[in-house]
Amino acid sequence: MERKYLIVGNWKMNKTPSQSEDLVKKIIDLKTRHGISAHVTIAICPPFTSLDRCAEWLKNTDIAIGAQNLYFEKEGAFTGEISASMLKDLRLTYVIIGHSERRAIFHETDEQIHQKVKIAQASQLIPILCVGETLDERESNRTLTVIETQISHVLEGLTNTNLVIAYEPVWAIGTGKTATPEMAQKVHQFIRELLQKQFGKGSQIIPILYGGSMKPDNAADLLTQPDIDGGLIGGASLVAESFMDIVATKGLSPLDSRKES
Ligand code: PEP
Repeated sequence: MERKYLIVGNWKMNKTPSQSEDLVKKIIDLKTRHGISAHVTIAICPPFTSLDRCAEWLKNTDIAIGAQNLYFEKEGAFTGEISASMLKDLRLTYVIIGHSERRAIFHETDEQIHQKVKIAQASQLIPILCVGETLDERESNRTLTVIETQISHVLEGLTNTNLVIAYEPVWAIGTGKTATPEMAQKVHQFIRELLQKQFGKGSQIIPILYGGSMKPDNAADLLTQPDIDGGLIGGASLVAESFMDIVATKGLSPLDSRKES
């Protein structure tokens, strides 16, 4: 099966259900009008309260939908939390796990993130596992060590390659600062090697996305790097035109041919 670029919109805590409906309708409309490349898969991750309505709009399209978080217990007395089976019942494909905002603001640990990845996979949801270094960690040359620690702790003992990794340097999220394509490529290549060590040949199907102020004007330079397989888009995904301009980035050759060359 062809490996495709994956472009995911993370709407964070934005858009009421009716605003979400307007945005999803615009995305569907632009997709039809733009004639998006067959080499790209699109996914959106609206807030929990908008998932049902958006899933309904998307059900006859090839745009996928995911959630931004879940809880690692199956069910029970966990007031305010959302389980994997609740998400699966909405026919979601993806769930973002371990976003840096959840790590920093809600103090999620690698151990909790590990549990979340496990329950997501057990429920046939594809986790989009976020990893990334802070500015302090980058400036003290600890980027690769931090990434290795996050990945090895979270993926410890896992064998299921139904997984997406998003490399998101924390200092680039929502700041307008983007990693240069070379900086991003270096980390992506390193992540690819870590995945290869853990999963062997099967790791080749795991998409590695870049996230952190990706916009229509920097998307092409990032997405054409040899180990960048797509993007996790925050701010620019809240406006249908800019999100779909990223999706419509020119010059993306099929991922499989790119890896062979
Ligand atoms: C994100 O939050 O996943 C993200 C990449 O945000 P932004 O594109 O706004 O930097």
